Amino acid sequence: MPSYLTTNKITEPSCSQAGTLPIYSVTPFTMLDFPDQTACVIWFTGCNMRCGYCHNPQIVKGKGRGTVEDVMKFLHKRLGLLDGVVLSGGEASSYPALGEFIQTIKALGYAIKLDTNGLRPDMIREFLEKGFLDYIALDYKAPSHKFKKITGVEKFEKFSETLDLLCHQSRIPFEVRTTVHTGLMNVGDIVEIINDLELRKYEGTYSIQNFRADNGRPTLGLLPPQTRTLDIKAIPKARNFDIQFRNF
Ligand code: SF4
Repeated sequence: MPSYLTTNKITEPSCSQAGTLPIYSVTPFTMLDFPDQTACVIWFTGCNMRCGYCHNPQIVKGKGRGTVEDVMKFLHKRLGLLDGVVLSGGEASSYPALGEFIQTIKALGYAIKLDTNGLRPDMIREFLEKGFLDYIALDYKAPSHKFKKITGVEKFEKFSETLDLLCHQSRIPFEVRTTVHTGLMNVGDIVEIINDLELRKYEGTYSIQNFRADNGRPTLGLLPPQTRTLDIKAIPKARNFDIQFRNF
């Protein structure tokens, strides 16, 4: 694999063919991103949302730097050394040939985790039916009334469909998570999300992540830094699932 792929540093792309270069970079090893698995992370270029707090604008709006073939060469070399592959981004489900890509990786024996914003319920349904996925991390970006403000898209229904789909299946484990920048979200918004998850009978772990500026780099929406963090003591416990707080 070309060395420019094995980094998360945000640098200018070396080539301008985004369509044939869907990969932005690869994190070659992680023990943190895929529960109970050693894994690599593949960062896909492009995203179907425009979250103001996104600290990867170059991945979201920039051009890819590597091919799927580059990644396959890397994965062949890591056989026996890694258990799984995390598909992240950007938004991995924006890559049109993701199904074929997963099929090829799974045939090598890797477990697959998909990080997703949930806007492709059709794809998730198909992948679940085909047994392509082993774990999903689903971002619950915001309650319905704030979804457009946070994500830039009016597609809460699509996200909601994905969440329902996952809550009504038992094939694979999944987790739900929300990133909080207090300039955008407050305690009331989080309580609304918790209540919605209760109604849907969610039983996994709900992670609430404090927004962290990435070394002062500008976010996608050029948000100013947070002046305070979420008051996590004001967040009620959920009846049917655990709540974890990260980076607070
Ligand atoms: S934070 Fe939002 S814009 Fe950035 S990659 Fe995730 S879903 Fe896309």
